[in-house]
Amino acid sequence: MSNPVAIVWLRRDLRLSDHPALTAAAQDGALMPLFILDEQMEALGAAPRWRLEQSLKSLAADLEARGLKLILRRGDPRAILTALAQDIGAVSVHWSRLYDGGSVARDTEVKSALKEAGVSAVSHAGHVLHEPWTVETKTGGFYKVYTPYWKAVRGADVPEPIGIPDLRAPDTWPESDALEAWQLSADMDRGGAIVATHETAGEDTARGVLGGFIGSKVEDYGTARDKLFVAGTSTLSAHFAWGELSIRTAWHAAKRKFDETGSADVETFMKELVWRDFAWHLIYHTPQIETENWRPEWDGFPWRGDNEDAERWRRGLTGEPIVDAGMREMYVTGRMHNRVRMIVACYLTKHLQTDWRVGLKWFEECLVDHDPASNAMGWQWSAGSGPDATPYFRVFNPETQAEKFDPKGIYRRKWLDSENSAEAASYFKAVPRSWGLSAAEGRPPRMIDLKDGRQRALDAYQEFKAQG
Ligand code: FAD
Repeated sequence: MSNPVAIVWLRRDLRLSDHPALTAAAQDGALMPLFILDEQMEALGAAPRWRLEQSLKSLAADLEARGLKLILRRGDPRAILTALAQDIGAVSVHWSRLYDGGSVARDTEVKSALKEAGVSAVSHAGHVLHEPWTVETKTGGFYKVYTPYWKAVRGADVPEPIGIPDLRAPDTWPESDALEAWQLSADMDRGGAIVATHETAGEDTARGVLGGFIGSKVEDYGTARDKLFVAGTSTLSAHFAWGELSIRTAWHAAKRKFDETGSADVETFMKELVWRDFAWHLIYHTPQIETENWRPEWDGFPWRGDNEDAERWRRGLTGEPIVDAGMREMYVTGRMHNRVRMIVACYLTKHLQTDWRVGLKWFEECLVDHDPASNAMGWQWSAGSGPDATPYFRVFNPETQAEKFDPKGIYRRKWLDSENSAEAASYFKAVPRSWGLSAAEGRPPRMIDLKDGRQRALDAYQEFKAQG
């Protein structure tokens, strides 16, 4: 009799260790790891698709080193999973739960289709520290404000991470697509090669980055995290976004450090990990956060739709140095410093009065750490339309922000001075030729006077408020 086989359906959890779904499947039988390029994955922007390819390559290599394969299929997960489970006589299908509206709807359908087909379908925790429905206010609702959320979870139990289980390969493997045939990096064109120099995927890399950060940097995190000219943050976000590292592995590494040192900086880092959880808490309870103003009264705000100013913002041509530096950093590296994300988002939604969804879409296209929950929360926070948001009348002055967080202009020169900085020069190699940009043209003048932009935003807000 042949070995029983269990499928683990992988999505944003591309790792082997601390993986409850993979572990449960491995306990049920020989392991069949499966990744499906479904509608949701197809809809990803150019940079996340490229980053997904890197992550899949790395996971396939890790599996191969253990005598297993990563089976790749493209299409509707319901049809693919039921057919595959029946073809190979799988005893069960396991996956890690995701909490955005699209994933919940898809997974509910998949579960009932598998059940109907007589296949055991089991979903598991694994993507967050605390599942969204496990953290409740005293009155039984969900949290809309971060600080009480943090107070509710700071001492809560988080299970210790689990290791890689014993993995057995099935006797035979079904057909698989070839990863290259999916052409996930096609839209990155020349840019992919440049982003690759800033970004390394995979579980081993992620664990190394975590170890290095906890070992030598986290104790300065509180002050270094806002300095644009030092590498003061963990740079773990893309690893979390693709699940190459489990969030509880990071939480426990930080917690051990905190227990040892009592350092407030370490606690600040732990709070940031919880911001990620909070974003998933919000998207689960209010899935419309991805597409609608979280505060419906904001539907009456006179946002500008996409426009020429927004196009200059996307291309790093606003003439506002810190804004352009950030937009270029993102184009070249697939990342942007958190402080700069807030500055460019505020500039777009306030000085340029442009709808936050225009910015959200561009981040979706360009960020290797793109995460639907954190991106939506970050944009609505910046725009003022979200939960626990910065009020619209608080308009960041990009110049003052730059002086405070990049006092010597090191960050701005790195991304703007193409004569003296390789990073700044690489922007012109990364952008599409159709943009017609050349380093020789020099810096554009300021597109908008900061005072005028601020006043225009405040006037629009006053009018909006007056209309009730
Ligand atoms: P660190 O400072 O080392 O923080 C550690 C981890 O905590 C991060 O990796 C991340 O998982 C989490 N974290 C930190 N800050 C936040 C935050 N504000 N919100 C949620 N989680 C946080 N983050 C994404 O991962 N994907 C996104 O698509 C994304 N879009 C954003 C859009 C806007 C407009 C803004 C203002 C923020 C956005 N963020 C997003 C949050 C934040 O900017 C990044 O998580 C952070 O810059 C990643 O760098 P790091 O890993 O070095 O973070």
